[in-house]
Amino acid sequence: MPIAGGTDPVAVPRAPVSRPDGRTDLVGLSKAAIGEALLAAGLVEPKQARMRAKQIWGWIYNRGVTDFAQMSDLSKPLREGLEAQFVVGRPEVIEAHVSTDGTRKWLLRSAGEEYEMVFIPDADRGTLCVSSQVGCTLNCRFCFTGTMKLVRNLTAAEIVGQVMLARDSLGEWPSSPEGRLLTNIVMMGMGEPLYHFDNVRDALKIVMDGDGLALSKRRITLSTSGVVPMMARAGEEIGVNLAVSLHAVTKEIRDEIVPLNRKYGIDELLQACAEYPGANNARRITFEYVMLKGKNDRDEDAHELVRLIKQYKLPAKVNLIPWNPWPGAPYDTSDEVQVQRFSDIVYRAGISAPIRRPRGRDIMAACGQLKSSSEKLSRAELDRRAEEKLAALG
Ligand code: SAH
Ligand code: SF4
Repeated sequence: MPIAGGTDPVAVPRAPVSRPDGRTDLVGLSKAAIGEALLAAGLVEPKQARMRAKQIWGWIYNRGVTDFAQMSDLSKPLREGLEAQFVVGRPEVIEAHVSTDGTRKWLLRSAGEEYEMVFIPDADRGTLCVSSQVGCTLNCRFCFTGTMKLVRNLTAAEIVGQVMLARDSLGEWPSSPEGRLLTNIVMMGMGEPLYHFDNVRDALKIVMDGDGLALSKRRITLSTSGVVPMMARAGEEIGVNLAVSLHAVTKEIRDEIVPLNRKYGIDELLQACAEYPGANNARRITFEYVMLKGKNDRDEDAHELVRLIKQYKLPAKVNLIPWNPWPGAPYDTSDEVQVQRFSDIVYRAGISAPIRRPRGRDIMAACGQLKSSSEKLSRAELDRRAEEKLAALG
């Protein structure tokens, strides 16, 4: 569905996506849609559709089965019919890398386009960083993904497919909530998730479904650079934790580094945060703040950040992200001493402001380093692409 007000500049392909072999991928479809697909394919009687869809759902999302022949509680003719008309797909793995700190990055491909996902293991959790677009519609000036031309939005199947593939790689089928490595999901890979809301919502609903992957909404965080008109719907229809890429506290600096600010300014954004459904002191909104030397890291920026959070009475925490470098970038990482000073100022005002430890930098898997191919672009080409995206913003 197009978003009112021209916030959705890119046409979105909708699942089910027909594959070159004419079969339909069942991954990415809701339970009801699987039932309808079985009916339309003439494989079940109307009164069986729901039951069969539920059984198939369990095989796909609870046991991780991709081969219909293994779905042993279905009749042989049904299994053969499924095999002829459907698949349980996965993105193709093109490259897999492991960092010295244990972070893993995969370069994936589906329908001809490449995108990345990252798994970050910690002592008490394992976080999968999922991409929502190939490239990004936007062009935050400090972000490597932002230098890519947007290729396309990922389908719900491709978004869920990343979680399925991570479970495959980690050997975590059947999907039991106990003792598993993959415990959290962040929509913080390539792309702006609120620029194609429907696919992201459909994918996350599947990931949260209790009969399948069963990840709680409390363990999922969606990060947006500030697509204000879609924030309320994200809260109402998905209900996951919200992270907002704030990165600056003045119009001048945010306009420069997060150009979407020219469309939806800081006040509008913070007002939308104040109204975000489900945010409270137990479920705070995370403000991401990338530390750029001499740009947004002064003491007065920290004080202004505190003032804004208090003015809007936001249940908030701040994540300070040391900027991760990439080839040809126009910024520097803030000095450690300054990052610490900034953090202390925010903490002293009673707002949590931890400094994030960069993960997976050696394999270009850290925040803002994802890009399907790491070409080094000239400054002129970077500027040209930025201008092109700005013009598309309208
Ligand atoms: N597009 C969404 C989600 C993906 S980006 C968004 O912008 O919120 C995940 C986080 O990494 C964002 O806060 C983003 O601003 C930040 N980021 C981008 N480039 C970075 C870099 N080079 N170093 C550190 N953080 C970066
Ligand atoms: Fe896109 Fe997020 Fe990177 Fe900005 S920070 S260019 S919105 S991926």
